[in-house]
Amino acid sequence: MPELPEVETIRRDLLPIVVGRTITGAWVSPNAPRLVQLLPPDEFCRQIAGRRIEDIDRRGKYLLFRLDGGLHWGVHLRMTGRLLHDVNECPETPYLRATFGLDDGAWLCFVDLRKFGTMWLVDDESLVTSKLGPEPLSDDFTPAYLHALLKRRSAPIKAALLDQSAIAGIGNIYADEALFIAGISPKRAANSLSKPRVARLHAAIREALELALGDRGSSFRDYLDASGREGGHHLKVKVFRRTGLPCYVCGTPITRIRLGGRSTHFCPKCQR
Ligand SMILES: [Zn+2]
Repeated sequence: MPELPEVETIRRDLLPIVVGRTITGAWVSPNAPRLVQLLPPDEFCRQIAGRRIEDIDRRGKYLLFRLDGGLHWGVHLRMTGRLLHDVNECPETPYLRATFGLDDGAWLCFVDLRKFGTMWLVDDESLVTSKLGPEPLSDDFTPAYLHALLKRRSAPIKAALLDQSAIAGIGNIYADEALFIAGISPKRAANSLSKPRVARLHAAIREALELALGDRGSSFRDYLDASGREGGHHLKVKVFRRTGLPCYVCGTPITRIRLGGRSTHFCPKCQR
């Protein structure tokens, strides 16, 4: 699933090419009845047509297009969603779920194999983002915040990192990577970490996300950027999906376990 670095890469790519453009028309596939939230799809298409894209924000894993007239178009890619920009036409694929024509002749194309992706058109952005915790790369996310948050939780630390209402934008890949960088076992109870270890985790979360951003995200399976290109960070991860391969630090084989229903990868020697 695309996480903060992947969604942010799409945002940064789209900014210079779609801001200022007007959406001339939209189409939602009848075989994607759950794509549009809160509005019937035909009403969504009617309301978004003619709107100018003024800016693109991101909160957690949500892309938020700011449109004229005070409307916000939210997009969540979920498992397999792709938001592609094409100067000519949308790709011919049975997984094309929605298209948005732009006034320069280009297209935004929403392609989604599994159909878990979702969109909103709202005048109040908080209808989409109100339950999200702070952005991990923002000033709101401090070691003191993380310490206070973890102190209240006895669940495994990995589960706390995945909770979008605690920290926005971290998913399975970067939770595993951050815990490795911090030397913390994913199984450890969140409230059992000392203050210095929480500070290390805080820095590790930012490091894991910044490294991935620098590589334009990770393409383990489905993620492609807005131009249809893969990211590069899946080639550089330290533990995620490296089950059985030697730890880069100590040589111990990376272990995979299920934790809270998610596969979790870690070095049993380096992470305590
Ligand atoms: Zn190791």
